[in-house]
Amino acid sequence: MGYKISVREFLENRNMDLEDFYSVFFSGLKRINRKLNLFVVMEKPGRASASGMLSGLPVSVKDCICVKGMQSAAGSRILEGYRPPFDATAVRRVKDSGGVIIGKTNQDEFGFGTFSVNSGFGIPKNPIDPSRTCGGSSGGAAGTAAALEYPHIALAESTGGSISCPASFCGVVGLTPTYGLVSRYGLIDYANSLDKIGAIGKRVYDVALMLSVIAGHDSRDFTSLDIKPEKYLNSLDAGVKGMRIGVPKEYFGEGVEKAVAECVWKGIKELENSGVVYEEISLPCTEHAIPVYYIIAAAEASTNLAKFCGMRYGASEPVSGSFNEYFSKVRSKYFGEEAKRRILLGTYARMAGYRDQYYLKAMKARTLIINEFKKAFKKFDALVAPTMPVIAPKFSEIKRMEPLQQYMMDILTVAPNLAGIPMLSVPCGKVKGMPVGMHIMGNYLEEKKILRIGKAAEGLE
Ligand code: GLN
Repeated sequence: MGYKISVREFLENRNMDLEDFYSVFFSGLKRINRKLNLFVVMEKPGRASASGMLSGLPVSVKDCICVKGMQSAAGSRILEGYRPPFDATAVRRVKDSGGVIIGKTNQDEFGFGTFSVNSGFGIPKNPIDPSRTCGGSSGGAAGTAAALEYPHIALAESTGGSISCPASFCGVVGLTPTYGLVSRYGLIDYANSLDKIGAIGKRVYDVALMLSVIAGHDSRDFTSLDIKPEKYLNSLDAGVKGMRIGVPKEYFGEGVEKAVAECVWKGIKELENSGVVYEEISLPCTEHAIPVYYIIAAAEASTNLAKFCGMRYGASEPVSGSFNEYFSKVRSKYFGEEAKRRILLGTYARMAGYRDQYYLKAMKARTLIINEFKKAFKKFDALVAPTMPVIAPKFSEIKRMEPLQQYMMDILTVAPNLAGIPMLSVPCGKVKGMPVGMHIMGNYLEEKKILRIGKAAEGLE
């Protein structure tokens, strides 16, 4: 019924076999990559098979998700040359379902950023307008989904919006699942209590398919939810008649470009024509989301990065001096500026004497944010808002932004990420020729509902 991503169909329509397909696929991909720098590593598979749920489908993997034998550096020079001896569980499941890993996509170093300009491996560019960012931190993943005219799905990761933001800026679909639904085993951590592996693709169907493959309990991740995943593809076309949607007014407030807000409102009205009932609501804790997120995320990141000391993984230097001297030398040389900033910020927030004031306070405020969402979902099936307050900025504009101004760009994505609820960004129109994303946020484990709404919205664009 309707659209389906299928390599087999693609081959049949073009009278090709899988080997021919991969040859044209990789020459196309290389051409795109020369212009846009979306990949850190690209690898043509030896042998692909067209069986299983993904049956020969090309899958790109964000650089922070480990692929056995393939450099997995999380966008950081400090991990250059690190080839994990194992697959992340999500990657393992993709392979077991017949998916073919084509390489590692570019990202902000360890996920620290919103525009992918903090990558240690050059900056990926937006395929729609290369003078603009793809968004971040999964910029390479979304850029690839937008640029490729072949079947492909991207595995990506979000801590505070890194799937939704680039999906929105590149005009593709990004799904961030409920925290714990997809195993984090083999993910190079940014902030453990926030990190989620999800998917980016051209269509809602694509990300629902990928979720069907990667969701489910994994005993190797102790935060993995012990539940049976649902059949995410089953009710995609069930429609939205009678569904109740909350539209939070704070998500259309200061800092959100008028044209972007109008575009999303148009999408909401169209959903109304399809049978959705909407109501404007207020989520007053939204104003605290940025400081709360940046304190918690940086605190966790600063401890996670301690293991990169030039001895175990990736980059090293000739050993000299005391451990502290060696450790400092390697870290000063190979960490980027933003990683250093986050280490300082996070360490400060956790320090004896400041811990109560910052970290513990942020944890309490996080609970308030969570409770606010829980309360809203007692009444609504989903919440709808713009994904990002702006269209993809130009690199020249990003250069002029202070770090704090860059952090403020996450104002609409950090709260749902702090709560760990599932979210889906779907394209809902254009402003100045650049795509605008509509963010559909759902209650815990209600991926099916947001996918259904997303599917209805996608049909309307
Ligand atoms: N932009 C946010 C940050 O810099 C979110 C990034 C992410 O989700 N990895 O932390």
